[in-house]
Amino acid sequence: MTANKAAALKERHDQRFINKETQTSAKYLRRLEELTGAPEGMEAFYDTLKRIYVDMQNADAEPGQKTIGTYCVMVPQELVYASGAMPVKLCSGNYTAFSVGDDITPRDACPLVKAVAGFKQTGLMPLYENCSMMVVPITCDCKKKITGMLSGSCDLMTMHIPAMRDDDDIDNYTDQLYELMARLEDVTGNRITYDTLSEGFRKVGYAQYELSEFIRLKKETPYLIRGSHAMAILNSSSYMDAEKWGKALHRVNRSLKKRSKQGQTVTSKKLPRILLTGSPTVFPNMKIPLLIEEMGGIVAGDETCMGERGMWDPAVITDDSFDGMMRALANRALRPCPCPTFADNSQRIFRLKQLIKDNEIQGVIYHVLRGCLVYDFEYKRIEEELGKLGIPVIRLESDYNEEDVEQLRIRIEAFIELIKLRQAPEKRTAVRKSF
Ligand code: SF4
Ligand code: SF4
Repeated sequence: MTANKAAALKERHDQRFINKETQTSAKYLRRLEELTGAPEGMEAFYDTLKRIYVDMQNADAEPGQKTIGTYCVMVPQELVYASGAMPVKLCSGNYTAFSVGDDITPRDACPLVKAVAGFKQTGLMPLYENCSMMVVPITCDCKKKITGMLSGSCDLMTMHIPAMRDDDDIDNYTDQLYELMARLEDVTGNRITYDTLSEGFRKVGYAQYELSEFIRLKKETPYLIRGSHAMAILNSSSYMDAEKWGKALHRVNRSLKKRSKQGQTVTSKKLPRILLTGSPTVFPNMKIPLLIEEMGGIVAGDETCMGERGMWDPAVITDDSFDGMMRALANRALRPCPCPTFADNSQRIFRLKQLIKDNEIQGVIYHVLRGCLVYDFEYKRIEEELGKLGIPVIRLESDYNEEDVEQLRIRIEAFIELIKLRQAPEKRTAVRKSF
């Protein structure tokens, strides 16, 4: 094949990839927009998801500001902001990139990692291509092996995530954060100082404060917002500056408070309240929350790391020296994280029970991405614990394609019907006005 022919062939393949990727993302965005009851102020989050996945542009960094790709919530955003750069989360939920990655990774690798491999292979996604550095915490075998595929494309740093969370582990993680600090300084050319780190804490702290308000409002019954809309808001935090995201969330919070005052709710019906937990739910792979809400349930709680877990726990500074702040970041990254990557995870059970109580959950959907062993391993224990509370739970395995949608729909519908049958006859507070 001549060079010209090869170039034309590649161009056609690339265009096909772009068309498919943008169509799928636009379809899921449309489904989110068409779901009734979205509060005022959602545009900023829809625009962000559209910008990244439909328009295929870079994250909304300031002119000249570098972006640093991260692959887990255990990389502290505060430190990245302190270097003057913007963190972006690169865990992927993309079906089109998955289909490319599927051909170059082992069959049993998880789809999230296959999608990342697919994007790297095509070189077409600005979010990935424009990163000045990527930080990959080694939390599972899939993450470990993906680093080999990513290396060479840009500056890459791996971080060792301990199996336990003893004081020695925190010391070790703090040392790794100092190493990350030095790497960030090299990449950005900026020094991280006490003042810039404090500013990083302030920025992230503001977003976390608005998130805590949002979570408080989200708990209200009758419901002020649907879980799928909440997940779109939380997903977009991966691609927005923390302060801009916090301000956009402030507008949503204002609209939710208005709803609460005026007695407006997303639906007049008493919908089965479901908690979604398990493997990460990354846009555009929103099929499970959307199916739950399209089939008549409501995602009242979400314990996934692209959701509430990602920003929930603030770093607590007990010693306000520079080292104290670094230790606070290490503590926050590891100690409260309920990710099953840790050996002992009684914390996750505790967190799930707390979410069930706080959100009056009636059933739990445990989502496992095919090949995600760390989450699958914990299912049995969680099923047993929830069984003791009389909370029904189902395990749903899914992949990054639409072939399993009908099967998922049938199972979710049956689960929702089961909850309706078990629903106690007592009525919830009267619903005053609904959309
Ligand atoms: S599932 Fe666990 S390892 Fe994966 S990104 Fe989330 S917190 Fe990190
Ligand atoms: S934790 Fe699960 S979803 Fe995340 S990279 Fe590992 S195997 Fe994939």
